[in-house]
Amino acid sequence: MLSGPLSFVKDELESLRSDGLYNSIRALEGPQGAWVTINGESMLNFCSNNYLGLAADPRLKQAAKEAIEQYGVGPGAVRTIAGTMTLHRELEAALAKFKKVPAVISFQSGFTANLAVIGALVGKGDTIYSDSLNHASIIDGCRLSRAEIKVYEHCDMQSLEERLKEPTTGRKLIITDGVFSMDGDLAPLPAIVELADKYGAMTMVDDAHGEGVLGSNGRGIVDHFGLHGRVDVEVGTLSKALGVVGGYVAGARELIDYLSQRGRPFLFSSAVTPADVAACIAAVRILDSDDQLVTKLWDNSRYFKQHMQELGFDIGKSQTPITPVIIGEAAKAAEFSQRLFEQKVFAQSIGFPTVPRGKARIRVMVSASHSQEDLDYGIEVFKSVGKAMGLI
Ligand SMILES: *Cc1c(COP(=O)(O)O)cnc(C)c1O
Repeated sequence: MLSGPLSFVKDELESLRSDGLYNSIRALEGPQGAWVTINGESMLNFCSNNYLGLAADPRLKQAAKEAIEQYGVGPGAVRTIAGTMTLHRELEAALAKFKKVPAVISFQSGFTANLAVIGALVGKGDTIYSDSLNHASIIDGCRLSRAEIKVYEHCDMQSLEERLKEPTTGRKLIITDGVFSMDGDLAPLPAIVELADKYGAMTMVDDAHGEGVLGSNGRGIVDHFGLHGRVDVEVGTLSKALGVVGGYVAGARELIDYLSQRGRPFLFSSAVTPADVAACIAAVRILDSDDQLVTKLWDNSRYFKQHMQELGFDIGKSQTPITPVIIGEAAKAAEFSQRLFEQKVFAQSIGFPTVPRGKARIRVMVSASHSQEDLDYGIEVFKSVGKAMGLI
């Protein structure tokens, strides 16, 4: 039994459980894919960010195996001390070509990429303009930087401009998610870039959910809006559509060079393993040469959304494959998820603080690897649970 000063943890856990906000983490007994195995049963997977089905792609697996033979399993230390492997450089070059930017630096994750770049660009005396729904890793990066943080209303350019007009000294940095992960809406990047020009601010977009999804061949939100060269910093992740793990920053050569000298997660945390890096390279090459998976992802998500809408579900205003099915109270969403699970559909509920109170939801993530029969099965189960719970 927990006692003493740490006993508050027990109370916190109890209140999470009674509010329906406690995450029960399911263990998968095999790879990520359209179907996953949980407790020995095959379950339709509707909640992974493995948009393109690359997480268990044979080409990525083969590349990882070969890299282990050639480079071993560990990076040895941080890259500035133990030396970087040629593989990491190869990944950065492949990403730079794919993103159509001068240079890229890779990190252990999208989360650490945000921590690295924000703190390197702004500090005490500077100002950050941050969308109110930005991802937790951006929020943490902003706090760690010790710059002043001015939060503007979600995607509201009038609110951003009002904040930019307030008197400040020092550098200015506007930061936004590209695709907002809980609603699937897009940042108004063209307008942000214009305001940045007008007020002399740097711009940064976190493209975690745009990578492999938006733009030609999934090049991301900058490509989607044709803004190459207009956004100072693009942050990306290799752990969603690209199917592996890792993060990166794309931009001007000097910016990338500077991050290799000043990005704290780069300097103080070891690099991603050779197997992961090789798998990432394979993923980038597949995307660069072929848009088949991206097209399939969009076809599947259009099909799913159309049927869910016809059934009468509230699926928000997503502009991307992310499909929020809004339920309401967190406890109800948790029950909905549990009932889906009983019918072999794996789709977790998401509640406060990840989304506002009263807006708890099942966030459905369809992927390029789902077949039409898979989607039909999922739609049928949603229909039966939705009716049973009086939602449709
Ligand atoms: C998922 C996500 C991250 C974190 O990426 P990881 O590679 O998993 O660390 C960062 N930013 C946004 C917007 C995300 O959605």
